[in-house]
Amino acid sequence: MTWSTGTTLEHPARVALGAIDAGIDVLAESNLWSLSDSELLGLRIAQEATLARLQAQVLATTREVEARGAAGKVGAPSTAGWLRGRCGQHYGAAKREVQLAVELDSTLPVLRAAFATGEVSLTHAHVVADGIRVLPAAVDAATRARGEALLVEEAKHRNVAALGRLAARLIGVLDPDGAARLEREEAEAEVNEEFTLVHRYDGARGFRGQLTPEDGAFIDAALDVLAAPRPAEDGTPDPRPPGKRRADALMDLVRIGLRAPDMPWSGGEPVTITVTTTPEHLTADTTPTDNDTECGLGSRVGSVGDPIPLDATLEDGTPLSAETTRRLSCDAWLVAAIIDAHGAVLDIGRRSRIVPAPMRRAVIVRDGGCAFPGCGRPARWCQAHHIWHWSKGGPTALDNLVLLCAHHHNVVHHHGWQVHLDPNRLPVFTPPPWVDPDQTPRTAWRPPPHLLI
Ligand SMILES: [Zn+2]
Ligand SMILES: [Zn+2]
Repeated sequence: MTWSTGTTLEHPARVALGAIDAGIDVLAESNLWSLSDSELLGLRIAQEATLARLQAQVLATTREVEARGAAGKVGAPSTAGWLRGRCGQHYGAAKREVQLAVELDSTLPVLRAAFATGEVSLTHAHVVADGIRVLPAAVDAATRARGEALLVEEAKHRNVAALGRLAARLIGVLDPDGAARLEREEAEAEVNEEFTLVHRYDGARGFRGQLTPEDGAFIDAALDVLAAPRPAEDGTPDPRPPGKRRADALMDLVRIGLRAPDMPWSGGEPVTITVTTTPEHLTADTTPTDNDTECGLGSRVGSVGDPIPLDATLEDGTPLSAETTRRLSCDAWLVAAIIDAHGAVLDIGRRSRIVPAPMRRAVIVRDGGCAFPGCGRPARWCQAHHIWHWSKGGPTALDNLVLLCAHHHNVVHHHGWQVHLDPNRLPVFTPPPWVDPDQTPRTAWRPPPHLLI
């Protein structure tokens, strides 16, 4: 809205923030030395309440950002991702802020009121919300509400450590009989846990099983972070449906688990998948077509009706396309198995790492994370892709490697994106014509300057 004089009418929220800023300026210029000791101590206590009230309003704003998806509209993967990018927060702290903001609004009305009036601090609010959140799923809403009221009351005069101890044994305080019953139910759920991987005829896997609520919560927490939509740099929404995003997230977890230093070995070597192939299959040309992008998944072995080439297989005999074989070998342990025309193994080479650890570290220093435009997923989730594939003569050298997360590694191998290094020896990505008819090259994601040491 505009006044006839041309002055913009500010929203009351901005006017109020301006008034708070003006008040802080007065506070900063006031002579604290002129206060008596008791006045000084009183001022410090009063500031605590003012700070809590302001933080309650900050969280209310965060809640509004989350509720209307405002962060997603400007291309951020989530509200927490936006807070990290624009407000410089740690991702974990940003996630906790969003979670508390949502819970205050939806399930913790007593806490919200006490926080808004400055009776409990932000730290206390987190402890209360954590205490309610970890109550077993079987605890009914009325008991949860009693727990919330009890913790909020205690938060007004207990320190955070004491409040944390009370929150940890909240269920026993609320209902001693219920606690015993819950313990029995939890023990049963623990015994009934199961997980079955169903091998289908085409080599794909299906899942079946059930987990305890707390194990499920761990999976929820991990998938929540890893399966969040990742819009393209220009704001194009992530085309992957939620199920595909969760499947990608599960594989991210598995890959990082396999790389963990304390992962147990199998048969005297780190857990490995073996692909048997021939040199001819690895160098076969499989330029992607429009069809590959439409199917949404990596291209497999040609279209329906084509003879299926069987010259790259997993250990169980499942055939792999040449491009998938190349993608698997980009950043993996390789066992060269030479087979003759009848499939007899002539020679098994020694296990060797294609990208040695120091080279991988060098790529991590240069790219800082997934280099695909707009991505930046942390390096520990990434693979070192050969720009000019080693099976076609490409060297394993810094200038021939680029760091890509599993999703974008798949995009580069199967969906026609090209990578090259610019004169500054930094990666540049060229989209396929069906993504951008002009095929304008796009600069790689670069870590913010403060992360480049
Ligand atoms: Zn690759
Ligand atoms: Zn990526």
